[in-house]
Amino acid sequence: MKIGCPKEIKPQEFRVGLTPANAAEAILRGHDVLIETGAGIGAGFTDEDYQAIGAEIAPDAAAIFDRSELVIKVKEPQAVERKLLREDQLLFTYLHLAPDPDQTRDLLDSGVTSIAYETVTDARGGLPLLAPMSEVAGRLAPQVGSWAMQKANGGRGVLMGGVPGVRPANVIIIGGGVVGAAAARVAVGMGANVTVMDRSVPRLSYLDDVFMGKLTTQYANAAATAELIQTADMVIGAVLIPGAAAPKLITREQLSTMPQGSVLVDVAIDQGGCFETSRATTHQDPIYEVDGVVHYCVANMPGAVARTSTQALGNVTLPFLLALADKGWRQAVTDDPHLRAGLSTHRGKLTSLPVGEALGLPA
Ligand code: NAD
Repeated sequence: MKIGCPKEIKPQEFRVGLTPANAAEAILRGHDVLIETGAGIGAGFTDEDYQAIGAEIAPDAAAIFDRSELVIKVKEPQAVERKLLREDQLLFTYLHLAPDPDQTRDLLDSGVTSIAYETVTDARGGLPLLAPMSEVAGRLAPQVGSWAMQKANGGRGVLMGGVPGVRPANVIIIGGGVVGAAAARVAVGMGANVTVMDRSVPRLSYLDDVFMGKLTTQYANAAATAELIQTADMVIGAVLIPGAAAPKLITREQLSTMPQGSVLVDVAIDQGGCFETSRATTHQDPIYEVDGVVHYCVANMPGAVARTSTQALGNVTLPFLLALADKGWRQAVTDDPHLRAGLSTHRGKLTSLPVGEALGLPA
């Protein structure tokens, strides 16, 4: 099969849909790989890296979309890219169609068969193509939060691990799922005094087990949150209620009860944010202050570490990519109900029930 990978054109997106290592796997199995010139640069992969494993370099996106049977990307196709899609083509990428009627309409009009990374499932009910990005954002959260705690960035000037004779930072993580556990791992590793809050007792038990006394767990309720934030140096928001906007767990009034210069890292900002005063920021201008509390609310945190994120994403997309290329999409989704869960559009028909429900369209 002819597999094509265009350069991402969404602002501030440096990841690429296909690494040279994954392209090599596809080529080894007899597929042709076409990469747009410069597509890998943001993640540190040159055209020469791709050529060395036998991929062909195309001059522009038009050539990729024109010549590829399967287009692999990272972000949802932008309006100009959607005009290049066609009926006998397969698109494999993040789509996030539910809040995006314009994109949904364009995909349906193009007739393309699309499979969305974010709705592919696994045997444990998880979302395997989303999890690595949560892992990245979670590990990054204490790193950016500790930067924000520095005096020059408006923080209270506290070192995560303290020093002998001086207490470490108090870090509260609200939500102990994939993001929260990853954040806990790094915050504990930096020597902070870490508390993880969650509404799931089984999840708290799991964290208590795996961290073996290196952190404290606390059932998440409003009273405990109100008490703990009074002595917090950093609060990381990592909650998720599937299919719903994030609940607001710290109100504007409560900010005045927090130490001046303490830091809120709202990882859940892509679901609207879990602090009342959160608003989405960018990597160029990541922080702002409200009532003396520094907020970090970047909605695409994995973009800051595009190379790691690209490789992590590539590791989980590869088996699905190979199945699609080896068998064709129809057989691949018939054989694998988890891949079938990602099927979103086909020949002008919506094939995802949740997207149909969200947009009021038949599916
Ligand atoms: P997850 O489902 O693995 O974990 C969410 C956890 O939140 C669960 O353990 C759940 O029990 C807990 N929870 C739900 N409501 C709660 C409440 N009121 N109080 C305390 N805990 C509560 O989800 P995840 O993969 O860890 O993702 C967490 C958030 O991070 C999501 O909003 C996700 O979209 C976001 N995210 C953001 C970025 C970014 O770049 N900003 C990147 C990846 C993920």
